[in-house]
Amino acid sequence: MKILLKNTLLQIVAIVVATSWLTACQLTTNESNNSKTSSSTQVLSHFSPRAENQYLTQEQAFQRSKRVSKINYQLNFKLTGEESFSANSTINFDLSDNKYPLTLDLNQAQIISLVINGEQITKEKLKNSYNGWFITLPAQQLKKGENTITVDFTRKHSTNGEGLHRFKDPVDGKVYLYSHFEPAAAQQMFALFDQPDLKATYELTVSAPKNWTVFSATRETKTIPQGDFTLWHFPKSLTLSPYNFSMHAGPYTMWQDNSGKYPLRLFARQSVADQITPKHWFTYTKQGFEFFDEYFGINYPFIKYDQVLVPDFLYGAMENSAAVTFAEKSFLTNGEMSQSRRQRLASVIMHEMAHQWFGNLATMKWWNGLWLNESFAAFMATLATNEATEFNNAWRSFYALW
Ligand SMILES: [Zn+2]
Repeated sequence: MKILLKNTLLQIVAIVVATSWLTACQLTTNESNNSKTSSSTQVLSHFSPRAENQYLTQEQAFQRSKRVSKINYQLNFKLTGEESFSANSTINFDLSDNKYPLTLDLNQAQIISLVINGEQITKEKLKNSYNGWFITLPAQQLKKGENTITVDFTRKHSTNGEGLHRFKDPVDGKVYLYSHFEPAAAQQMFALFDQPDLKATYELTVSAPKNWTVFSATRETKTIPQGDFTLWHFPKSLTLSPYNFSMHAGPYTMWQDNSGKYPLRLFARQSVADQITPKHWFTYTKQGFEFFDEYFGINYPFIKYDQVLVPDFLYGAMENSAAVTFAEKSFLTNGEMSQSRRQRLASVIMHEMAHQWFGNLATMKWWNGLWLNESFAAFMATLATNEATEFNNAWRSFYALW
Protein backbone atom coordinates (compact mmCIF):
# COMPACT_ATOMS: atom_id res chain seq x y z
CA MET A 1 0.00 0.00 0.00
CA LYS A 2 1.27 3.45 -0.79
CA ILE A 3 0.45 6.21 1.64
CA LEU A 4 0.47 9.62 0.06
CA LEU A 5 1.10 11.90 3.00
CA LYS A 6 3.58 11.94 5.81
CA ASN A 7 0.70 12.62 8.22
CA THR A 8 -1.17 9.59 7.00
CA LEU A 9 1.89 7.43 7.61
CA LEU A 10 2.15 8.76 11.14
CA GLN A 11 -1.52 7.98 11.68
CA ILE A 12 -0.96 4.40 10.51
CA VAL A 13 2.01 4.01 12.85
CA ALA A 14 -0.16 5.33 15.67
CA ILE A 15 -2.91 2.84 14.78
CA VAL A 16 -0.42 -0.06 14.70
CA VAL A 17 0.97 0.96 18.08
CA ALA A 18 -2.52 1.42 19.48
CA THR A 19 -3.61 -1.93 18.04
CA SER A 20 -0.64 -3.72 19.63
CA TRP A 21 -1.53 -2.17 22.96
CA LEU A 22 -5.18 -3.08 22.58
CA THR A 23 -4.27 -6.62 21.63
CA ALA A 24 -2.14 -6.95 24.73
CA CYS A 25 -5.04 -5.74 26.89
CA GLN A 26 -7.46 -8.17 25.28
CA LEU A 27 -4.96 -10.97 25.61
CA THR A 28 -5.01 -10.63 29.36
CA THR A 29 -8.80 -10.76 29.39
CA ASN A 30 -8.93 -13.80 27.13
CA GLU A 31 -6.35 -15.69 29.13
CA SER A 32 -8.32 -15.17 32.33
CA ASN A 33 -11.55 -16.23 30.56
CA ASN A 34 -9.88 -19.33 29.18
CA SER A 35 -8.56 -20.38 32.55
CA LYS A 36 -12.09 -20.05 33.95
CA THR A 37 -13.74 -22.01 31.13
CA SER A 38 -11.21 -24.83 31.09
CA SER A 39 -12.20 -25.82 34.64
CA SER A 40 -15.81 -26.52 33.65
CA THR A 41 -16.97 -28.74 30.78
CA GLN A 42 -20.44 -27.20 30.96
CA VAL A 43 -19.01 -23.74 30.29
CA LEU A 44 -16.61 -25.22 27.74
CA SER A 45 -19.58 -26.31 25.59
CA HIS A 46 -20.34 -22.59 25.24
CA PHE A 47 -16.70 -21.81 24.58
CA SER A 48 -16.45 -18.60 22.62
CA PRO A 49 -13.15 -18.37 20.77
CA ARG A 50 -13.40 -14.60 20.40
CA ALA A 51 -15.22 -11.52 21.57
CA GLU A 52 -18.58 -10.71 19.94
CA ASN A 53 -17.31 -7.83 17.84
CA GLN A 54 -15.73 -7.21 14.46
CA TYR A 55 -12.13 -7.36 15.71
CA LEU A 56 -9.88 -10.39 15.73
CA THR A 57 -6.92 -10.10 18.09
CA GLN A 58 -3.46 -11.36 17.25
CA GLU A 59 -3.75 -14.08 19.91
CA GLN A 60 -7.12 -15.25 18.57
CA ALA A 61 -5.77 -15.22 15.02
CA PHE A 62 -2.76 -17.32 16.00
CA GLN A 63 -5.00 -19.78 17.85
CA ARG A 64 -6.90 -20.19 14.58
CA SER A 65 -3.83 -20.51 12.36
CA LYS A 66 -2.45 -23.26 14.62
CA ARG A 67 -5.54 -25.33 13.79
CA VAL A 68 -6.32 -24.46 10.16
CA SER A 69 -4.26 -25.22 7.02
CA LYS A 70 -4.49 -26.06 3.27
CA ILE A 71 -7.23 -23.53 2.59
CA ASN A 72 -8.96 -23.20 -0.77
CA TYR A 73 -11.75 -20.70 -1.51
CA GLN A 74 -14.19 -21.30 -4.34
CA LEU A 75 -15.95 -17.99 -4.78
CA ASN A 76 -18.93 -17.27 -6.99
CA PHE A 77 -20.34 -13.77 -7.39
CA LYS A 78 -23.43 -12.47 -9.14
CA LEU A 79 -22.99 -8.80 -9.99
CA THR A 80 -25.71 -6.70 -11.53
CA GLY A 81 -24.51 -3.15 -10.90
CA GLU A 82 -27.28 -2.68 -8.33
CA GLU A 83 -26.51 -1.78 -4.72
CA SER A 84 -26.32 -5.39 -3.49
CA PHE A 85 -24.57 -8.50 -4.76
CA SER A 86 -25.14 -12.18 -4.14
CA ALA A 87 -22.38 -14.67 -3.59
CA ASN A 88 -21.42 -18.13 -2.56
CA SER A 89 -18.21 -19.07 -0.72
CA THR A 90 -17.08 -22.67 -0.45
CA ILE A 91 -14.16 -23.07 1.94
CA ASN A 92 -12.12 -26.26 1.96
CA PHE A 93 -9.49 -26.63 4.68
CA ASP A 94 -7.73 -29.02 7.01
CA LEU A 95 -8.41 -28.81 10.76
CA SER A 96 -5.94 -30.22 13.30
CA ASP A 97 -8.64 -30.93 15.92
CA ASN A 98 -12.38 -30.59 16.40
CA LYS A 99 -12.35 -30.01 20.14
CA TYR A 100 -13.53 -26.42 19.88
CA PRO A 101 -15.68 -24.30 17.61
CA LEU A 102 -14.07 -22.38 14.79
CA THR A 103 -15.02 -18.98 13.42
CA LEU A 104 -15.31 -17.76 9.85
CA ASP A 105 -15.30 -14.02 9.13
CA LEU A 106 -18.15 -12.48 7.14
CA ASN A 107 -19.12 -8.86 7.68
CA GLN A 108 -22.75 -7.63 7.63
CA ALA A 109 -24.16 -10.19 5.19
CA GLN A 110 -27.61 -11.72 4.93
CA ILE A 111 -26.90 -15.43 5.04
CA ILE A 112 -29.27 -17.53 2.96
CA SER A 113 -27.73 -20.92 3.57
CA LEU A 114 -24.91 -22.47 5.60
CA VAL A 115 -23.76 -26.03 4.99
CA ILE A 116 -21.10 -27.58 7.26
CA ASN A 117 -19.60 -30.82 5.96
CA GLY A 118 -22.75 -31.65 4.01
CA GLU A 119 -25.18 -30.77 6.81
CA GLN A 120 -27.56 -27.90 6.17
CA ILE A 121 -27.84 -25.64 9.21
CA THR A 122 -31.42 -24.82 10.14
CA LYS A 123 -32.62 -21.21 10.12
CA GLU A 124 -33.00 -21.24 13.91
CA LYS A 125 -29.44 -22.47 14.48
CA LEU A 126 -28.13 -20.07 11.89
CA LYS A 127 -29.54 -17.16 13.87
CA ASN A 128 -27.38 -18.20 16.83
CA SER A 129 -24.32 -18.96 14.70
CA TYR A 130 -23.97 -15.58 12.99
CA ASN A 131 -23.64 -12.22 14.74
CA GLY A 132 -23.04 -9.98 11.71
CA TRP A 133 -19.25 -10.23 12.08
CA PHE A 134 -18.41 -13.94 12.09
CA ILE A 135 -20.00 -17.36 11.80
CA THR A 136 -19.33 -19.81 14.64
CA LEU A 137 -18.95 -23.36 13.38
CA PRO A 138 -19.85 -25.77 16.22
CA ALA A 139 -17.16 -28.28 17.20
CA GLN A 140 -19.48 -31.27 16.79
CA GLN A 141 -20.04 -30.53 13.10
CA LEU A 142 -16.34 -30.09 12.34
CA LYS A 143 -13.98 -32.93 11.53
CA LYS A 144 -10.34 -33.53 12.23
CA GLY A 145 -8.83 -33.41 8.74
CA GLU A 146 -10.67 -32.13 5.66
CA ASN A 147 -13.70 -29.86 6.08
CA THR A 148 -15.99 -28.14 3.60
CA ILE A 149 -18.15 -25.14 4.48
CA THR A 150 -20.51 -23.48 2.00
CA VAL A 151 -22.10 -20.10 2.65
CA ASP A 152 -24.67 -18.45 0.37
CA PHE A 153 -25.37 -14.81 1.10
CA THR A 154 -26.29 -11.41 -0.18
CA ARG A 155 -24.66 -8.18 0.89
CA LYS A 156 -24.74 -4.51 0.07
CA HIS A 157 -21.72 -3.28 -1.82
CA SER A 158 -19.39 -1.26 0.35
CA THR A 159 -19.20 2.47 -0.19
CA ASN A 160 -16.44 2.96 2.39
CA GLY A 161 -13.55 2.09 0.05
CA GLU A 162 -13.16 -1.41 1.53
CA GLY A 163 -14.58 -4.81 0.60
CA LEU A 164 -16.26 -4.69 -2.83
CA HIS A 165 -16.68 -0.96 -3.27
CA ARG A 166 -19.36 0.36 -5.65
CA PHE A 167 -18.98 3.67 -7.45
CA LYS A 168 -21.63 5.20 -9.71
CA ASP A 169 -19.97 7.63 -12.10
CA PRO A 170 -21.74 11.02 -11.87
CA VAL A 171 -20.63 11.83 -15.43
CA ASP A 172 -22.35 8.99 -17.28
CA GLY A 173 -24.14 6.89 -14.61
CA LYS A 174 -21.95 3.84 -15.25
CA VAL A 175 -21.19 1.60 -12.25
CA TYR A 176 -17.66 0.45 -11.35
CA LEU A 177 -16.62 -2.03 -8.67
CA TYR A 178 -13.21 -2.58 -7.14
CA SER A 179 -12.05 -4.48 -4.09
CA HIS A 180 -9.78 -3.37 -1.29
CA PHE A 181 -8.91 -5.73 1.58
CA GLU A 182 -6.00 -4.36 3.62
CA PRO A 183 -6.32 -4.66 6.57
CA ALA A 184 -8.83 -7.46 7.18
CA ALA A 185 -11.58 -6.16 4.86
CA ALA A 186 -11.98 -9.21 2.58
CA GLN A 187 -14.71 -10.25 5.04
CA GLN A 188 -16.80 -7.40 3.57
CA MET A 189 -16.87 -9.41 0.31
CA PHE A 190 -16.80 -13.13 1.16
CA ALA A 191 -16.66 -15.64 4.04
CA LEU A 192 -13.10 -16.52 5.01
CA PHE A 193 -10.37 -16.73 7.63
CA ASP A 194 -9.39 -13.08 7.35
CA GLN A 195 -5.85 -12.89 8.71
CA PRO A 196 -2.55 -12.48 6.83
CA ASP A 197 -0.83 -15.72 7.88
CA LEU A 198 -3.67 -17.95 6.63
CA LYS A 199 -2.69 -18.00 2.98
CA ALA A 200 -4.97 -19.80 0.56
CA THR A 201 -5.69 -20.51 -3.08
CA TYR A 202 -8.68 -18.83 -4.73
CA GLU A 203 -10.90 -19.99 -7.60
CA LEU A 204 -13.45 -17.58 -8.91
CA THR A 205 -16.49 -17.29 -11.13
CA VAL A 206 -18.22 -13.97 -11.69
CA SER A 207 -21.51 -13.31 -13.45
CA ALA A 208 -21.43 -9.67 -14.61
CA PRO A 209 -23.27 -7.46 -17.12
CA LYS A 210 -22.08 -8.34 -20.61
CA ASN A 211 -20.44 -4.96 -21.29
CA TRP A 212 -18.22 -5.26 -18.15
CA THR A 213 -14.66 -6.47 -17.80
CA VAL A 214 -13.76 -8.53 -14.74
CA PHE A 215 -10.17 -8.96 -13.56
CA SER A 216 -8.57 -10.60 -10.56
CA ALA A 217 -5.39 -12.27 -9.31
CA THR A 218 -5.37 -14.64 -12.31
CA ARG A 219 -6.34 -14.09 -15.94
CA GLU A 220 -9.71 -15.58 -16.93
CA THR A 221 -9.63 -18.91 -18.78
CA LYS A 222 -13.09 -18.60 -20.33
CA THR A 223 -16.11 -16.33 -20.61
CA ILE A 224 -19.58 -17.73 -21.29
CA PRO A 225 -22.33 -15.42 -22.63
CA GLN A 226 -25.58 -15.80 -20.67
CA GLY A 227 -28.13 -13.37 -22.13
CA ASP A 228 -27.44 -9.90 -20.73
CA PHE A 229 -24.62 -11.30 -18.56
CA THR A 230 -21.29 -13.02 -19.03
CA LEU A 231 -19.92 -15.72 -16.74
CA TRP A 232 -16.18 -15.30 -16.13
CA HIS A 233 -14.03 -18.21 -14.98
CA PHE A 234 -10.74 -17.60 -13.18
CA PRO A 235 -8.41 -20.54 -12.45
CA LYS A 236 -6.89 -21.33 -9.08
CA SER A 237 -4.46 -18.65 -7.90
CA LEU A 238 -1.09 -19.16 -6.31
CA THR A 239 -1.18 -19.16 -2.50
CA LEU A 240 -2.02 -15.65 -1.27
CA SER A 241 -2.89 -13.83 1.92
CA PRO A 242 -6.52 -12.73 1.81
CA TYR A 243 -5.49 -9.07 1.78
CA ASN A 244 -3.52 -9.62 -1.44
CA PHE A 245 -6.41 -11.18 -3.36
CA SER A 246 -8.72 -8.88 -5.33
CA MET A 247 -11.51 -8.67 -7.90
CA HIS A 248 -12.55 -5.64 -9.94
CA ALA A 249 -15.43 -5.32 -12.39
CA GLY A 250 -17.11 -2.70 -14.54
CA PRO A 251 -17.20 -1.16 -18.02
CA TYR A 252 -13.55 -0.09 -17.63
CA THR A 253 -11.53 1.22 -20.57
CA MET A 254 -8.59 -1.11 -21.13
CA TRP A 255 -5.14 -0.65 -22.67
CA GLN A 256 -2.68 -3.49 -23.24
CA ASP A 257 1.05 -3.88 -23.79
CA ASN A 258 2.51 -7.30 -24.54
CA SER A 259 5.92 -6.10 -25.68
CA GLY A 260 7.71 -6.82 -22.37
CA LYS A 261 8.39 -9.90 -20.29
CA TYR A 262 4.85 -10.08 -18.81
CA PRO A 263 1.44 -9.23 -20.31
CA LEU A 264 0.39 -5.81 -19.04
CA ARG A 265 -3.02 -4.15 -18.90
CA LEU A 266 -4.15 -0.78 -17.64
CA PHE A 267 -7.75 0.07 -16.72
CA ALA A 268 -9.63 3.28 -15.95
CA ARG A 269 -13.25 4.35 -15.95
CA GLN A 270 -14.46 5.58 -19.34
CA SER A 271 -15.14 9.18 -18.30
CA VAL A 272 -11.48 9.82 -17.34
CA ALA A 273 -9.79 7.67 -19.99
CA ASP A 274 -8.64 10.69 -22.03
CA GLN A 275 -6.79 12.06 -18.98
CA ILE A 276 -4.44 9.09 -18.84
CA THR A 277 -1.22 8.52 -20.79
CA PRO A 278 -0.76 4.72 -20.95
CA LYS A 279 2.69 4.98 -22.56
CA HIS A 280 4.17 6.32 -19.31
CA TRP A 281 2.50 3.58 -17.26
CA PHE A 282 3.73 0.80 -19.53
CA THR A 283 7.26 2.24 -19.83
CA TYR A 284 7.87 2.43 -16.07
CA THR A 285 6.14 -0.91 -15.46
CA LYS A 286 8.36 -2.72 -17.96
CA GLN A 287 11.46 -1.02 -16.56
CA GLY A 288 10.40 -2.11 -13.07
CA PHE A 289 10.00 -5.77 -14.00
CA GLU A 290 13.43 -5.85 -15.69
CA PHE A 291 14.96 -4.35 -12.55
CA PHE A 292 13.18 -6.42 -9.89
CA ASP A 293 13.52 -9.79 -11.65
CA GLU A 294 17.26 -9.20 -11.80
CA TYR A 295 17.63 -7.63 -8.35
CA PHE A 296 15.61 -10.18 -6.39
CA GLY A 297 16.86 -13.16 -8.43
CA ILE A 298 13.31 -14.58 -8.43
CA ASN A 299 11.12 -13.94 -11.46
CA TYR A 300 7.78 -12.21 -10.91
CA PRO A 301 5.57 -15.15 -9.89
CA PHE A 302 2.05 -14.00 -10.72
CA ILE A 303 2.21 -14.35 -14.55
CA LYS A 304 0.33 -11.22 -15.66
CA TYR A 305 0.14 -7.64 -14.33
CA ASP A 306 -2.95 -5.45 -14.31
CA GLN A 307 -3.08 -1.88 -12.98
CA VAL A 308 -6.36 0.00 -12.49
CA LEU A 309 -7.06 3.63 -11.64
CA VAL A 310 -10.08 3.84 -9.34
CA PRO A 311 -12.10 6.69 -7.83
CA ASP A 312 -12.57 7.40 -4.09
CA PHE A 313 -9.60 5.25 -3.14
CA LEU A 314 -8.60 5.31 0.53
CA TYR A 315 -4.85 5.23 -0.06
CA GLY A 316 -2.36 6.10 -2.81
CA ALA A 317 -2.30 2.59 -4.25
CA MET A 318 -2.61 -1.06 -3.19
CA GLU A 319 -0.45 -4.00 -4.20
CA ASN A 320 -3.17 -6.64 -4.82
CA SER A 321 -1.42 -9.59 -6.39
CA ALA A 322 -1.28 -9.06 -10.20
CA ALA A 323 -4.18 -6.53 -10.08
CA VAL A 324 -2.91 -3.32 -8.49
CA THR A 325 -5.25 -0.42 -7.65
CA PHE A 326 -4.22 3.27 -7.84
CA ALA A 327 -6.06 6.37 -6.61
CA GLU A 328 -6.94 7.98 -9.93
CA LYS A 329 -6.94 11.56 -8.60
CA SER A 330 -3.15 11.48 -8.30
CA PHE A 331 -2.50 10.45 -11.87
CA LEU A 332 -5.03 12.15 -14.15
CA THR A 333 -3.76 14.95 -16.35
CA ASN A 334 -5.33 17.37 -18.81
CA GLY A 335 -2.16 17.66 -20.85
CA GLU A 336 1.31 16.20 -21.00
CA MET A 337 2.38 15.02 -17.50
CA SER A 338 5.04 17.19 -15.90
CA GLN A 339 8.38 15.62 -15.05
CA SER A 340 7.66 15.66 -11.32
CA ARG A 341 4.29 13.96 -11.81
CA ARG A 342 5.85 11.33 -14.05
CA GLN A 343 8.48 10.69 -11.39
CA ARG A 344 5.72 10.36 -8.82
CA LEU A 345 3.96 7.85 -11.10
CA ALA A 346 7.17 5.84 -11.64
CA SER A 347 7.81 5.76 -7.90
CA VAL A 348 4.30 4.51 -6.99
CA ILE A 349 4.40 1.86 -9.74
CA MET A 350 7.77 0.65 -8.37
CA HIS A 351 6.48 0.67 -4.78
CA GLU A 352 3.50 -1.58 -5.57
CA MET A 353 5.65 -3.80 -7.78
CA ALA A 354 8.23 -4.29 -4.99
CA HIS A 355 5.38 -5.55 -2.80
CA GLN A 356 4.67 -8.35 -5.28
CA TRP A 357 7.78 -10.01 -3.88
CA PHE A 358 7.99 -8.46 -0.43
CA GLY A 359 4.47 -8.59 0.96
CA ASN A 360 2.68 -10.84 -1.53
CA LEU A 361 5.21 -13.64 -2.03
CA ALA A 362 6.83 -13.31 1.43
CA THR A 363 4.23 -12.06 3.93
CA MET A 364 4.21 -10.85 7.50
CA LYS A 365 2.38 -13.04 10.01
CA TRP A 366 0.31 -10.24 11.52
CA TRP A 367 -0.58 -6.61 10.85
CA ASN A 368 2.08 -5.29 13.22
CA GLY A 369 4.65 -6.46 10.63
CA LEU A 370 3.31 -3.99 8.05
CA TRP A 371 5.85 -1.34 9.06
CA LEU A 372 8.64 -3.49 7.65
CA ASN A 373 6.64 -4.35 4.54
CA GLU A 374 6.03 -0.65 3.83
CA SER A 375 9.50 0.52 4.75
CA PHE A 376 11.07 -1.98 2.41
CA ALA A 377 8.71 -1.07 -0.45
CA ALA A 378 9.48 2.64 0.05
CA PHE A 379 13.19 1.91 -0.09
CA MET A 380 12.95 -0.43 -3.09
CA ALA A 381 10.70 1.99 -4.99
CA THR A 382 13.35 4.68 -4.73
CA LEU A 383 16.15 2.32 -5.69
CA ALA A 384 14.25 0.99 -8.73
CA THR A 385 13.18 4.48 -9.84
CA ASN A 386 16.74 5.72 -9.52
CA GLU A 387 18.34 2.73 -11.26
CA ALA A 388 15.79 1.73 -13.90
CA THR A 389 14.03 4.90 -15.07
CA GLU A 390 14.97 8.32 -16.43
CA PHE A 391 14.72 9.79 -12.88
CA ASN A 392 18.24 9.31 -11.59
CA ASN A 393 17.73 11.90 -8.83
CA ALA A 394 15.13 9.79 -7.04
CA TRP A 395 17.11 9.59 -3.77
CA ARG A 396 16.98 13.37 -3.48
CA SER A 397 13.16 13.21 -3.55
CA PHE A 398 13.22 10.36 -1.03
CA TYR A 399 15.22 12.39 1.49
CA ALA A 400 13.01 15.45 0.94
CA LEU A 401 9.78 13.47 1.40
CA TRP A 402 10.60 11.23 4.33
ZN1 LIG B 1 3.11 -0.18 0.28
